[in-house]
Amino acid sequence: MGLCKCPKRKVTNLFCFEHRVNVCEHCLVANHAKCIVQSYLQWLQDSDYSSNCRLCNTPLAARETTRLVCYDLFHWACLNERAAQLPQNTAPAGYQCPSCSGPIFPPSNLVGPVASVLREKLTTVNWARAGLGLPLIDEVVSPEPEPLNTSDFSDWSSFNASGSPEQEEVASASTAPAFYSQVPRPPTPPSRPEQHTVIHMSSSEPLTHGAGTGLVSSR
Ligand SMILES: [Zn+2]
Ligand SMILES: [Zn+2]
Ligand SMILES: [Zn+2]
Ligand SMILES: [Zn+2]
Repeated sequence: MGLCKCPKRKVTNLFCFEHRVNVCEHCLVANHAKCIVQSYLQWLQDSDYSSNCRLCNTPLAARETTRLVCYDLFHWACLNERAAQLPQNTAPAGYQCPSCSGPIFPPSNLVGPVASVLREKLTTVNWARAGLGLPLIDEVVSPEPEPLNTSDFSDWSSFNASGSPEQEEVASASTAPAFYSQVPRPPTPPSRPEQHTVIHMSSSEPLTHGAGTGLVSSR
């Protein structure tokens, strides 16, 4: 037990591990949002604490954090991701603190700055709104990753487009058979595609040549 140094002089048993001061809940929310805060007794037992998020093991300070009513602190993204993976019919009591198994949802009779900040955060995501008995909302979801498309290919067309029509003709004529037909073609000694390219491309021989091999090897 100790006194918070703020004007309220609140009696508190919370202790910021980071700043090594007693803090009341008001000050905790206002000034120690990313600090490990537990009881002073806990501090005595655990002074070589880790200030990493327990879910991803990277520093808490690096990302937005959320403190549960047990005062355990996590990255909001990590906690949210974990909770969102639970089945939709999970009872509210099934959402538990990953550290101490305390409730994620603040008990309804619990008031205080930590609980109200947490409740507010929880109303932004549907798994929690369901647990709080709130109507669901349209969550902001990150756009679906675009289906893998042939970016190689589009690079190609733009590359070809920059060349003369003649170049384009030669390129398609020489490369298309090579990768569209698996059947070995009968030998046609006089017209090897590469040689053709070299002959016709007086100015841009290396580019077209490299292009031809690149296309074949990327398939
Ligand atoms: Zn205070
Ligand atoms: Zn602090
Ligand atoms: Zn994390
Ligand atoms: Zn906890």
